[in-house]
Amino acid sequence: MKYHIKTFGCAMNYSDSERVASVLERIGYELGDDEKSADIIIYNTCQIKQKAEDKLFGLRKQIAALKTANKNLKVTVTGCMVRSSSTQKDHKIDDILKRMPEVDFVFRIEDVAKLPDLLKTVDPLLTFTDDIEDGTLENYFKINPKKTSNFAVFVPISNGCDKFCTYCIVPFTRGREASRDFNEILEECKKHVLEGALEITLVGQTVNSYGLSFNDKKSGKFVEFGLSPFAALLREIDKLYELGLRRLRFTSPHPRDFFDEVILAMSELRTICPYVHMPVQAGDDRVLRRMNRNYKTAEYKDIMNKLKKAIPDISISTDIIVGFCGETEEEFTNTLNMYREMEWDFCFNNRYSPRKGTYSDKKLEDSVSPQEKARRWHELNSLVKEISNRKHKAFINKNVEVLVEQQIGQHCIGRSRENKEVHFQSGRKLLGQLANVRVTNSGDWHLDGELI
Ligand code: SF4
Repeated sequence: MKYHIKTFGCAMNYSDSERVASVLERIGYELGDDEKSADIIIYNTCQIKQKAEDKLFGLRKQIAALKTANKNLKVTVTGCMVRSSSTQKDHKIDDILKRMPEVDFVFRIEDVAKLPDLLKTVDPLLTFTDDIEDGTLENYFKINPKKTSNFAVFVPISNGCDKFCTYCIVPFTRGREASRDFNEILEECKKHVLEGALEITLVGQTVNSYGLSFNDKKSGKFVEFGLSPFAALLREIDKLYELGLRRLRFTSPHPRDFFDEVILAMSELRTICPYVHMPVQAGDDRVLRRMNRNYKTAEYKDIMNKLKKAIPDISISTDIIVGFCGETEEEFTNTLNMYREMEWDFCFNNRYSPRKGTYSDKKLEDSVSPQEKARRWHELNSLVKEISNRKHKAFINKNVEVLVEQQIGQHCIGRSRENKEVHFQSGRKLLGQLANVRVTNSGDWHLDGELI
């Protein structure tokens, strides 16, 4: 039996998909070449971006055609759009099942170990090579991921979110934040490094809130790590340099918990890459308050300025939502001004659209017209492009270390420590290796270079 996973969204979702693949392989499925050859298709969804949501609902016809061609095909959805694990046979079904009758069942990612049971519910004749009975969160973390790459791996350190931004459904779908055991994370990281990982990316909805959630504080398990258990974790993982680890990244931090201890660790540790992606979402305090982001622009700027001082070559990027409920022209202009001041290297720029069940959907008016949202999006995007281009030009004639992630013939593509995409040619096979490259040219979104 074959499986195919389609992942939308962030690094956390890609990491989750590796755990889903692992469960499926444990019960006897193999990775298929594409959707057509699959006996089960899993859509791992994102709800932050409207585009990802639209894409899923836009797949109805395609799924129906695949099911006509293969009567035994099972289709399931997981990720941030799913609120409760259920099948079409249940009394109380998840909203996705109502909107997409072609989908057989949905499951919360924390319930991934329940996949065999859910599959058997929709097809009692299925038999598996192994059964996984317990679907607790702890088991979710303990599932050994089916890695898509040996040299660059994702390691989840927490799941869920306590922040309750008014536009976001994640705290309701993934639940309250829970941090993974400190030693269990270290063991997983060590295992990956011994198997050849050069780069580890720690992932969590608010990754730097590690050990600080309501549940973590109640359990008292992280008290020994002081103000920032996340900084303590970075310091321990950095010791894996001796075993071969060369790069440590994390995504995405929240400004609320970006303590000086983290900045200090970043400036001192050998493996930490000089790159931070920290969503700001808006450059105006009134908008941030309506979003319930729980920080002011001055606090965000303070963190960024400290980071730039401690790590002068750092690259920074962010997420911004334009056209949030009630956003005035003046508030939007403040965002543009903050963008000019911060000079982020890159920005994921999104137009606000209400997500069903969120506070902003229920209580705030989506008052900015689609045309105006589009205008603001384009205006911000031009600025993003202009600054990205300028930042890229500053790399010309510099040497960067690139971890090669793709090689097609002689064409290599990889990322520098600053997270810049770098293209260069090599007659040697370099996939999964570090290469020193001299930057010769730059574009809006990537750098070109020559192997040194
Ligand atoms: S920090 Fe806000 S946007 Fe991010 S996952 Fe939590 S609630 Fe959603």
